[in-house]
Amino acid sequence: MSEPQRKYIVLLGVPGAGKGTQAKLLKEKLGLPHISTGDIFRFNLTHETELGRLAQSYMSKGNLVPDEVTIRMVADRLQQADCDRGAIMDGFPRNLEQAVAFDAMTAPYGGVYRVPLIHIEDEEAMRRITGRRVCRTCGAVYHIDFNPPRRAGVCDIDGGELYQRDDDKPATVRNRLYVYYKQTSPLVGYYFAKHLLARVDGEQPIDAVHEALMANLTD
Ligand code: ADP
Ligand code: AMP
Ligand code: ZN
Repeated sequence: MSEPQRKYIVLLGVPGAGKGTQAKLLKEKLGLPHISTGDIFRFNLTHETELGRLAQSYMSKGNLVPDEVTIRMVADRLQQADCDRGAIMDGFPRNLEQAVAFDAMTAPYGGVYRVPLIHIEDEEAMRRITGRRVCRTCGAVYHIDFNPPRRAGVCDIDGGELYQRDDDKPATVRNRLYVYYKQTSPLVGYYFAKHLLARVDGEQPIDAVHEALMANLTD
């Protein structure tokens, strides 16, 4: 007997495109878990696990953590009970090897459901990343100009301290964009050829991007 279909949604876009912001909104609407490999690595870094120590050297330079580590981590995460209807993937897959591995993981459940590409220009990506602030306790994402908290430096949700990610400083951001174009952007063609790609204009207000994504995911 075949397994029931699941909705595995892959959000694509340069760093800063708004994948995390949109994934959090989609999670509420669609009732699917938000899986951010960057968040999982950062959690491990904060808790000083072996995985965190390994990831640190790659993340601090803006390079990708090796595939074997990342793919195993995602495969483990997808085994958890909350993923039994699918998942919203944010930051994975990030190269062709990971995309092929993800196809294999999801094949028993109907494969990848859809791949929205949130498009913004590189200059906008630089502005968004360098102004991004993250809550130390709940992970909520703000922008000092575009999506500011009510009180500077303080999370609206839980009063946690907002900090700037180390890899959001300009020198690292440029390498992260380079890594995106070299390693991740081939996935645009990969998923287009599979008729899964849906382009969305990411240079609109957060709500408008959300509406465009919902239109793509519920038709
Ligand atoms: P990604 O997960 O793709 O790296 P984020 O969701 O963390 O991107 O967003 C990057 C930054 O841009 C954050 O500071 C966020 O608050 C801000 N941001 C997200 N979406 C928009 C938008 N539509 N307009 C303006 N700023 C945005
Ligand atoms: P993000 O939070 O998506 O911006 O990711 C932050 C960093 O975590 C990246 O620059 C990489 O070093 C690492 N990372 C996140 N996702 C992956 C992935 N799928 N493969 C390899 N490294 C990743
Ligand atoms: Zn918070």
